[in-house]
Amino acid sequence: VATAAEISLAVEVLAQGGLVAVPTETVYGLAADALNPDAVRRIFELKGRPTAHPLIVHLPAPREPSAPAWRELLERWAVDVPPLAVELASEFWPGPLTLILRRAAHVPDEVTGELDTVGLRVPGHPVAQALLAGFAARQPESRTGLAAPSANRFGHISPTTAQHVQDEFGASLLPAQDLRAGSPLPQRVAGVILDGGPAEIGIESTIIDLSQGWLRILRPGAIGLEQLHAVMARTPESELRGTGLAEAQLETVRAPGMLDLHYAPRAELRLIEEGELAALLEASRERSSGLHAHDDVNRHILSVSAAAVQLPPVAIIASRELLNAHALPRCFLPIRLGASLQEQARGLYAALRQADAEADLIYAVLPPQAGIGIAIRDRLRRAAGRGESPL
Ligand code: AMP
Ligand code: MG
Repeated sequence: VATAAEISLAVEVLAQGGLVAVPTETVYGLAADALNPDAVRRIFELKGRPTAHPLIVHLPAPREPSAPAWRELLERWAVDVPPLAVELASEFWPGPLTLILRRAAHVPDEVTGELDTVGLRVPGHPVAQALLAGFAARQPESRTGLAAPSANRFGHISPTTAQHVQDEFGASLLPAQDLRAGSPLPQRVAGVILDGGPAEIGIESTIIDLSQGWLRILRPGAIGLEQLHAVMARTPESELRGTGLAEAQLETVRAPGMLDLHYAPRAELRLIEEGELAALLEASRERSSGLHAHDDVNRHILSVSAAAVQLPPVAIIASRELLNAHALPRCFLPIRLGASLQEQARGLYAALRQADAEADLIYAVLPPQAGIGIAIRDRLRRAAGRGESPL
């Protein structure tokens, strides 16, 4: 992983308006100085991302975390900060939680997509925190932050390793270890990549909107409903600006910039429930021995075998347990995820990338709708072009 020297070089790149792909515990981000609109615009250019999509501002953790310290940090970037925001920050930061609050006037429109809100997160990854702390120490401003979306081209699968980032952007980003101290970025290089190993969580942060006076979940993530409820339960209702928290709906709405098709592979992705796997495999076995004609997998297989080329695999992504419990027809390429839902989240995007590289058709088995399984289902639905309410 990135050395202190590489992190210092990356700080200089940021200070000069360049970009840094930074590991976080969720996915890799593509970061720029949040107070430098030109630098922020370079993120959109490199990603090919529509400019109306807001970015999350990543912040350094206070040296001595306490409720007043979290409040002070939030109030550098937001106004009307409700007590619940401080509670949530105290409980979950540094960590995979993004808070949407009413923006402070100085936050550039390039960051917020011209909304009157701003997304804030304090990431937990040590490399991200070292970069944020180094950048804060380098800058004269009392507030520093890094605006960062995921480090992938617009609409693609989010990266969970430094190699994924390199695969997305090629020569536009240089591994930090290849940069020489004191020398500027080569022409046409937009920034550097810091390696922090594979992302621990593997899917994007839970996004919570507190800007409307009640709590809405804009994007499910590793921090789930149970954990949120636990914090909400101890926040006095009266403190949430007149809206009774007891009756507060955990409303799930679409965040701006969260399109129906997102996190998408090139290959066709089809989703099935666990209980449908046996029937799918059975149907394709029969079909490949010429018995039935209704199943699409087998139409795919037959059309290709008719063309007398080698059978391309149909990738199937599911937990190791589930795949081991079934005999797979020959054309199926199993891509095994771990047993726990946490491991499945961690391995999901790498599995989608592998499947995309090796197959034209991908089946993915949806995990149960519980805990982080809710977030995994959400990402799979969007990757398949079917963004629906995950709750
Ligand atoms: P990414 O990290 O690539 O998922 O991009 C950041 C995402 O955060 C955006 O696509 C939005 O869904 C969300 N986001 C950031 N800022 C805001 C905001 N002010 N209001 C609502 N959603 C936001
Ligand atoms: Mg993204």
